Amino acid sequence: MSLSGLCQVCESREATHTCVQCGTAACDDHFDRASNLCVRCADRSGRGDISPAGSEVDEDDVHRI
Ligand SMILES: [Zn+2]
Ligand SMILES: [Zn+2]
Repeated sequence: MSLSGLCQVCESREATHTCVQCGTAACDDHFDRASNLCVRCADRSGRGDISPAGSEVDEDDVHRI
């Protein structure tokens, strides 16, 4: 097991993937297997369909109010 750590996005689940762009360890929920990117990089790439559950809320938007 080369991956031994928590998802660096939610820090609550075991990381099962590594982003090919930034190297972030990510769990299944925070990794886009189609592009091999973590959700952070996938977001920046302009893809808007990586959250099938639709439950992900951008915390930055919440704090902005
Ligand atoms: Zn996660
Ligand atoms: Zn990334």
